[in-house]
Amino acid sequence: MEKILNFIDGTYCESQSGKWLDNYNPSNGAVYSQITRSNASDVDRAYTAAKAAFPTWSNTTLEERSRIMLKISNLLEDRLLSLAEAEAKDNGKPLSLALAVDIPRAASNFRFFANAITQFSSESHESVGLQTMNFTLRQPLGVVGCISPWNLPLYLFTWKIAPALASGNTVIAKPSEVTPMTAYLLGEICNEAGLPKGVLNIVQGTGPEAGQAIVAHPEVKAISFTGGTETGAHIARTAAPMFKKLSLELGGKNPNLIFADCEYDKMLAVTVRSSFANQGQICLCGSRIFVERSIYDKFKSDFVVKVKQLKVGDPFEAKTNVGALVSKSHMKKVQGYIALAQEEGGIVLCGGDEVKVKGLEEGYYLEPTVIEIEDDQCRVNQEEIFGPVVTIMPFDTETEVLQMANSVKYGLSATLWTSNIDRTMRLSKELEAGIVWVNTWLNRDLRTPFGGMKASGVGREGGFEALRFFTEAKNVCIRYE
Ligand code: NDP
Repeated sequence: MEKILNFIDGTYCESQSGKWLDNYNPSNGAVYSQITRSNASDVDRAYTAAKAAFPTWSNTTLEERSRIMLKISNLLEDRLLSLAEAEAKDNGKPLSLALAVDIPRAASNFRFFANAITQFSSESHESVGLQTMNFTLRQPLGVVGCISPWNLPLYLFTWKIAPALASGNTVIAKPSEVTPMTAYLLGEICNEAGLPKGVLNIVQGTGPEAGQAIVAHPEVKAISFTGGTETGAHIARTAAPMFKKLSLELGGKNPNLIFADCEYDKMLAVTVRSSFANQGQICLCGSRIFVERSIYDKFKSDFVVKVKQLKVGDPFEAKTNVGALVSKSHMKKVQGYIALAQEEGGIVLCGGDEVKVKGLEEGYYLEPTVIEIEDDQCRVNQEEIFGPVVTIMPFDTETEVLQMANSVKYGLSATLWTSNIDRTMRLSKELEAGIVWVNTWLNRDLRTPFGGMKASGVGREGGFEALRFFTEAKNVCIRYE
């Protein structure tokens, strides 16, 4: 059985624990590989390698750093098919999605930050009349930690690693134990691209053990974390007494606000996608759908027809729209919410059941589920489900829908469908979300700030924001005669 190893100091190695974790293929429920189970002593080893690599890497010219990172990007593209297959097998997502989104975006992350670092600049402030000049040095932090979740495995792993490396840090990174495979494969790509050993170290294992050891390591200067809100709070508690820099990208419960004056057909098609792409397991999925009452009944019937057409099945089948959920325990959690919705008075308009896919009966498949609710405060409309489940309900006024959109603890993204520019401006300002999409969804320019408000996180990544996060700003003040 294939072994998934740590990548430390440019070499694949087993954890010093000698212990292994099973890695499941969600499409058929079978264990198909084993993950080395790292602990604090492996993180220490990774730290030693990263620390040793830091002086050289942080003084490597921007041109050279950029050249190596572009090479990593090209190698990711060259291996599009094999990496996409690995991602689909490890995560359960449709291969078509991994081919179109996950792996191309991982390559873009490296390309984007390889280029961005050559354009990154700092400020100077002349204190006119005082014979004093200030300039800002932006220096890499040292050894930093990057921890990512299972839903977009290589996509989010590289979203953190690329800016950390571009700005001259050395890295200890941990993917989710649920989806370790593509992070594992990244190690050999980095070697092939000529990334010096120790610059990127990848530690495999569980969150509470390996992840916690990275966060708790006193010499790891910053943590960039994407994952659940509770885990984020725990990380903040661990890191705060050491005054580490933290970037936390956490959960979401994103609203779609659909007004009668929108471009209806486009809205309908995109709303199906924003509800169920990646089995609804994208932090940016719009899981609360509010529709203006005058088009509510039409939307309800059209939406349900389209959702019923989605094909749930084998991630490797070209026609599959919805693959397997990531794990059995996650599927149980999502099913628990579907049951709760009914207890709370919600009406399941379609879906709700497990799907047995022929030949893959032990896989974790669920029907895309639409639940009509009456009270926006019900738990299914307030808590993050992170699966193929959306709620729908009507609204009458802009004020009412804004109030409902904002009355959750999260604030990651919001999607607005309208052709009214005044309303667009009013709501864009009032919506409590780090990203507001208007007449579009998941439209990403990597230069833009990315992150959430409220319980969806602290800090922004993306573009120069990420390079600022991974550098320390130092003011140098020179008085001259
Ligand atoms: P988790 O919070 O469970 O895990 C995220 C990562 O943190 C994993 O690598 C996990 O390891 C690790 N981890 C767990 N416990 C600790 C710990 N004590 N110390 C350090 N690391 C730890 O999230 P999920 O993987 O379940 O991902 C789903 C969540 O991620 C959802 O809430 C979703 O909304 C959010 N998310 C947010 C995004 C954003 O940009 N805001 C984007 C994508 C997802 P392991 O899995 O091995 O336990």
